Amino acid sequence: MDGTQILTLGLGLEAPWALKDQHLDTAVSPHRLDLYVEAERGSLYPCPECGEACPAHDFADRIWRHLNFFQHHCYLHARVPRTKCPEHGVKRIEVPWARPGSDFTLLFEQAAMSLVKEMPVLAVSRQLEISDKRLWRIVHHYVGRMLGALDLSRVATVGVDETASRRGQRYVTVFLDMQRQQEPVIFAIPGHGKEAIKAFSTFLATHGGAPDNVAEVVCDMSKPFLSGVAESLPRAEVTVDWFHIVQTFTRALDEVRKKERREKAHPKSLRWAILKNLDNGNMTAQQVSALQELIADQGATGDAWVIKEKLRWIQKAPTPRAARWRITNYLKVMRRAVTGQVLLKPMAKALATLERHTEQVVRRWISGLTNARLEGMNGLFQAARSRARGYRNEANFIAMIYLIGSPVGRLLDQAKST
Ligand SMILES: [Zn+2]
Repeated sequence: MDGTQILTLGLGLEAPWALKDQHLDTAVSPHRLDLYVEAERGSLYPCPECGEACPAHDFADRIWRHLNFFQHHCYLHARVPRTKCPEHGVKRIEVPWARPGSDFTLLFEQAAMSLVKEMPVLAVSRQLEISDKRLWRIVHHYVGRMLGALDLSRVATVGVDETASRRGQRYVTVFLDMQRQQEPVIFAIPGHGKEAIKAFSTFLATHGGAPDNVAEVVCDMSKPFLSGVAESLPRAEVTVDWFHIVQTFTRALDEVRKKERREKAHPKSLRWAILKNLDNGNMTAQQVSALQELIADQGATGDAWVIKEKLRWIQKAPTPRAARWRITNYLKVMRRAVTGQVLLKPMAKALATLERHTEQVVRRWISGLTNARLEGMNGLFQAARSRARGYRNEANFIAMIYLIGSPVGRLLDQAKST
C-alpha cells in the first residue's frame, strides 16, 4: 500500500473519484498538504435528480478544508462536474466527501462537532484553526438538521423556564419534555411569555406532536406564561413549580432584609444565612449564630425568615387535600403576622401570590410533577453559556442548549455511525 492508497482510504473515495496528486508545501506556515481528486476522463456521474448515469457538461474547480494531516492543514481539490441529464438538464452534482454549500469535508465537520460537544467553541476554533464564525455555521447546520428529525409525537407533559441570555437583557425560553429522563430540552427560542408558548405549540405540531395532547405544563407564576398556556396549549393543566414559590418568598425576604438594614445593623453573615437552605446543613458557624441572633432579635427580617421557612410544612404535605388545607391555614396565620407591618409588605405580596395560585401549586401533588427537572435547568444554562463563551447572539447560545441539553447531540452520534 503506498501513500496515495492510504490517503484515498482516509478520504473514503469511491469510483469514479480517485486521488491523482498530492503536494506538501513546507515553505508556508502552517505547512499545507494539498490533495487533488479527479475522475477518469469520460466518466459518467449520477444526475442529482434521478441518479441516472450522465456525461459531464462542464466542470468547476472547488476546494475543501479537510482534517489536518498531522500538523499540516489539508485541502482537497476537485473538478466538480455538472451533469447533462436527458430529462433534468444541466445540474451540479453532489460530491460524496462534502455536503452541498460547505467548504469543509464531512470528516472535518464531524470532527468539529465531536469537539464542540466536549469543549467550548472558542477552544475548538483555536484547535482546528478556523474562525469561530465558520465553526458556528457548521454547528447551526447540524443542530438544525437534527432538530428537523426530532419526533415529538409523545410529548404530553411540558416544563417551561426562561433565562437571561446576556446580563438580564434578552430572554431565552426553554421547553422540556418532563417525561424524558435524559436530554429533556425539546425547544428553545429567544423571547418569553405568550409568544414563546405560541411558537412552541407550532413547533410541536410540525414535529409530529399535538398541542391538544399536552395535558400538563409546569412553569412559574408569570401572567404572560399562564395566559400563553391557556391560549396555545388549551387542554393543559398548569402546575406551578415549587421552586418558583420558594424563589418568590426568598426574594421577598431579601427585600425585607434590605429595608430593615437601613434602620439597624445586621450581623455580617446574615444575608447568606437567610438565603441558604436549612436542609442542606452547610452553614458556617457565623451564619448559624447570625440566624440565632436574628430570631432572638424579633425584627422584621426574622419574622420574614420564619414565614419563608414555614413553607416547608406545606411542601411536606402527604396528599393534595392536606396540601390545600395546609396552604389555607398557613395563609391565615401568616397574614395575621404581616398585617400592619410596613417592613413586611414584600411578604404580604408573596402570600397574596401564593393564594392566587393555590390550585396550581396543589396541582403538583396531583400531577406528580416535581421541580427537580426545572431546578436542573440552571446548571444546563450555565454550561451552555460557558461552552458558547464569546457567542455573538442568542442563536449561538440556543444551539449550545440544544447540543448539550436535547436529544440533538445523540442523534448526531447516531447519524455518524450509520
Ligand atoms: Zn436526471
